[in-house]
Amino acid sequence: MLQVKNITFSYQKTPVLKDLSFKVKPGDYLAIIGESGSGKSTLLKVLRGEYDLNKGHVFWKENEILGPKHNLVIGYDFIKYVAQEFELEPFISVAENIGQHLSNFYKEEKKERVAELLEIVELTAFAKTKVKTLSGGQKQRVALARALAKQPEIILLDEPFSHIDNFKKQNLRRNVFSYLKKQNISCIVATHDKDDVLGYADNMIVLNNNKIEAQNTPEQLYKKPQTPLVASFFGEFNIIDNNIVYAHQLKMVAQSALKVIVKNSYFKGHYYLIEADLDGEKVFFESSEKIIQNTEIYLEAIT
Ligand code: ADP
Ligand code: MG
Repeated sequence: MLQVKNITFSYQKTPVLKDLSFKVKPGDYLAIIGESGSGKSTLLKVLRGEYDLNKGHVFWKENEILGPKHNLVIGYDFIKYVAQEFELEPFISVAENIGQHLSNFYKEEKKERVAELLEIVELTAFAKTKVKTLSGGQKQRVALARALAKQPEIILLDEPFSHIDNFKKQNLRRNVFSYLKKQNISCIVATHDKDDVLGYADNMIVLNNNKIEAQNTPEQLYKKPQTPLVASFFGEFNIIDNNIVYAHQLKMVAQSALKVIVKNSYFKGHYYLIEADLDGEKVFFESSEKIIQNTEIYLEAIT
């Protein structure tokens, strides 16, 4: 179990992380979300022992994770970390990059392991390609496979699918998260993409103003977002009578106290997102059909 106890960290004077506490069980996936600059990357770096804390403690099982003041070499074998700006060896092949830190003593095992990881990140066809010729998304997949190579107990991923195109993303997420679950590897993922979280994460932390603004399962946070920031992570929402109401929770009715005037219809695939005006405020709701501008509509919140 990873235990984070009241940690505070600052680069300079003002803390970037203030009094954070949470736990991650073996095999569990914790998502860290928050706006850009909220400290997600900093938190991951602190968890791998890249910095010394101002206050607090981090433990993985019985080992305390300590920073450079206490360790000559940064990091621990049981924790692997893939940075937002990942580093690879550009002049050797994809397969060589993935297997770089695996022992050459067991040649067959090494070959099989690399083949397995190539499958997971869907780069089998690129095994012999030199990394420098790959696209950003392909490099990101190599970095992921390389971090998994030595079977860490916990893996920290910083926006792991950010460079990967939508055609590949869905499959890759399924491959990676089901592999981690199967191997009982804990993972902590910093992301601002809800698709990295929903359906996969066991728990979720929302960082804001250097603190944890919310912490729960994705399902609970989705169903009962306590703050607009939490709701905004999941989709378009409105604040009506001081309640957070998602766009899909507003239904068109024949008559109600919520009269709006349609301003725009945005095609979203299986629905249209409708932007409307309610006494000078923007309101968003969903409709199966496009609605002509300036149409008057009555809405009702169904929560
Ligand atoms: P996120 O990953 O959520 O976008 P970061 O952890 O990168 O956020 O940054 C959090 C805050 O810490 C920002 O205000 C950023 O400018 C600052 N910061 C990040 N890295 C450094 C650094 N090496 N030195 C000083 N300040 C930093
Ligand atoms: Mg970041």
